[in-house]
Amino acid sequence: MVIIESPKMITVSYSNLQIPVTVWFEERNRLRITVQPDKSIVAKAPLDHSMEEVQAKLEKRAPWMIRQLEYFDQYHPVLPDRQYISGETYYYLGRQYRLKVTAGSENAVKLIGKFFMLTTTQPENLERKQQILQDWYTSHARVFIQNRAMLFVDRLIGLSAKTPEIKYRRMNKRWGSCTPAGVITFNTELIKAPTHCIDYVVLHELCHLVHEGHSAKFYHLLDVLMPDWKKRKERLEKVILT
Ligand SMILES: [Zn+2]
Repeated sequence: MVIIESPKMITVSYSNLQIPVTVWFEERNRLRITVQPDKSIVAKAPLDHSMEEVQAKLEKRAPWMIRQLEYFDQYHPVLPDRQYISGETYYYLGRQYRLKVTAGSENAVKLIGKFFMLTTTQPENLERKQQILQDWYTSHARVFIQNRAMLFVDRLIGLSAKTPEIKYRRMNKRWGSCTPAGVITFNTELIKAPTHCIDYVVLHELCHLVHEGHSAKFYHLLDVLMPDWKKRKERLEKVILT
């Protein structure tokens, strides 16, 4: 006989992400996790597992879950109803700017007052406009985040941190990551968030140069260097990416 209880919800924290998982307890030997194409995650747990055990096992598998979610993202790209036409709103460092598209002899973006002024040779070409704006975001993200990282990095090197190698990439599921070898990757989409939120992600990842996992020591260091990091993290969760 298969005993199935009603499902429980567990939130798995990983990096700066909260991943909801539906957990079914049933008669079985091992925990099984499935990431569905609609990006919902279902875990089937043995009846003798406590919620804590399930939580711990899910957390261990979080990197795998994220890889699966990113895999499915390829088929459900975040394609908002953006038309890249004048009047649309875009974010930069937490502030809103209106897009103004004009035809011109070059492809360029300039931030002037409250406007993103986008000049393009192909004002009717949506993909082209998207690419021009994305390139602008990416190049600004690299410079801005690098500068913020440099503000913190010296203090951490003093705490026997490794010297980081910093990379930048557009990611859908996380703001940043740090490998045990000290390679930090920041999501270029961060540039849309307010500076104090960017600083939180930057410091969070840099603290991993001192403490690898999310141990008590890690959080202690973060608390000391940025006592209000939780507030910044909450604000970051409200950032809308488009
Ligand atoms: Zn972390």
